[in-house]
Amino acid sequence: ENVMDESVRSSAADPSRLPNTAHLIVLSGPTAVGKGTVVNRLRRDHPDVWVSVSVTTRPPRPGEVDGVHYLFVDAAEFDRLIADGELLEWAVVHGVHRYGTPRQPVLDALAAGRSAILELDLQGARQVRQTWPEAHFVFLAPPTWEELLHRQAIRNTEDPAERERRLQTARQEMAAQDEFDQTIVNTEVGQAVADLVGLLGL
Ligand code: 5GP
Repeated sequence: ENVMDESVRSSAADPSRLPNTAHLIVLSGPTAVGKGTVVNRLRRDHPDVWVSVSVTTRPPRPGEVDGVHYLFVDAAEFDRLIADGELLEWAVVHGVHRYGTPRQPVLDALAAGRSAILELDLQGARQVRQTWPEAHFVFLAPPTWEELLHRQAIRNTEDPAERERRLQTARQEMAAQDEFDQTIVNTEVGQAVADLVGLLGL
């Protein structure tokens, strides 16, 4: 423990002469808990942390830039990435589009001594847990169950069957918290990022 403390202290004093303290962080949590917002703020305030850019078959939304927010590919290219073993993990999210993490850039970032963060859905986090158990698995939780329902706009969903289906998904997502090493409560984005940065030892 003390060795770790010492390396973190010296890291602040003189990053160049330090042992590699780069961590792989997997950030996951229920739909609409605010993972994207937390990662965007981390990107802005801590450019030293390397943020994985996922590949997806989803079309870009207005304002999304290829290579920045995602690598946008067609289904055939996604198939090729899987076949060639180029993805660290991948999943179909919300039953429609495929999302995956290119493996080599993660390895390169860590080899260069940069901590790396992957923002993944639960399926992706579970896959990384299988292949890379020494990563830090962080669950981003809502301050309250009610707040999660509010953020997901479940209470405004008109169709009762649809509302029940979404509630069931939210319950399952919250139940996954026990699989993670740490929980960060996303009450306020700045505080959540500060908590994350503390975990990263920055
Ligand atoms: P969106 O389409 O709103 O950008 O993302 C939808 C969901 O996909 C989010 O919950 C996000 O965490 C997840 N996601 C984004 N990239 C990846 C990835 O590379 N792998 C996995 N498993 N999930 C991802």
